[in-house]
Amino acid sequence: MTTVIDGKAVAADVREQLANSVDTLRDADVTPTLATVLMSDDPASETYVSMKQRDCEEVGIEARDVRISADAPADELFETIEDLNADTDVDGILVQMPVPDHVDKQAVLRSIDPEKDVDGFHPENVGRLVAGDARYKPCTPHGIQKLFESIDLDPEGKDVVVVGRSDIVGKPMANLLIQKAEGGNATVTVCHSRTRDLAEKTRQADVVVAAAGVPELVDGSMLSEGAVVVDVGVNRVDADTEKGYELVGDVDYDSAAEKASAITPVPGGVGPMTRAMLLYNTVKAASRQEDVPVELP
Ligand code: NAD
Repeated sequence: MTTVIDGKAVAADVREQLANSVDTLRDADVTPTLATVLMSDDPASETYVSMKQRDCEEVGIEARDVRISADAPADELFETIEDLNADTDVDGILVQMPVPDHVDKQAVLRSIDPEKDVDGFHPENVGRLVAGDARYKPCTPHGIQKLFESIDLDPEGKDVVVVGRSDIVGKPMANLLIQKAEGGNATVTVCHSRTRDLAEKTRQADVVVAAAGVPELVDGSMLSEGAVVVDVGVNRVDADTEKGYELVGDVDYDSAAEKASAITPVPGGVGPMTRAMLLYNTVKAASRQEDVPVELP
């Protein structure tokens, strides 16, 4: 029997607990507030931002919707971030990526006050994560740790292969899994576009986390019997649908499910967790900055 890991249900559970933490904050006259900053005309980015806004409202977090014209000078974005850094009503700041080409992305990440950096991408927060003293864990890998918990999977001593080395998924995932801490203690192999024989690596793994952005890269023939498979990928492929495309993961679901003991679907696996953990970080940010202790899920 293969367990289908229900990210929607786990995320709903996290949100419910966060709503209680928000109540605690509000009882102390603190309104947790997330500012999302969008500097793009890309419809996909707009959709992501409005989903984040809606998620906030659902648990009682105030969402501030800041928009900057995609062709505005970069300084307009930096000044906006400076204002939000200084605004004591704002607990979390999220700049929706990608920013336009004329804006230096790394400079944007560095410009956000690390205390308000709810994505966890500021170099100070990356450093703290690597050092085993995370302030804000990046949302996608943190959400995956919660999915492991939900199926009572303790990564300790397990061989985990992470496919992908991006700053937002692969690297922080590997860093969390090697920490000498709960949810860590795994033996981690990080594979990427220059890895020589990916299948040979994944076949050795107890757990595979696929985050390559390549449709159906990992199939059943690349897995050991009973592996746990986490599919982070969200890829648009042409299809005969109303929209002209469909979303597929980095895992070939059917063949992988035949081998796996547990697997995340796309959609409904990692995606809802990423969204829920942004709320988690925002509540944590409000709690830290306003000095009101709350319980976190
Ligand atoms: P990215 O493009 O920044 O990084 C992809 C990584 O995969 C790179 O490190 C690259 O070396 C590696 N890679 C590429 N081709 C490979 C191959 N053939 N074999 C092995 N490694 C290979 O992507 P990302 O931002 O990390 O996102 C990865 C995927 O996850 C995308 O599909 C993205 O849409 C999705 N994503 C989903 C969520 C979510 O919440 N569900 C969040 C973030 C990203």
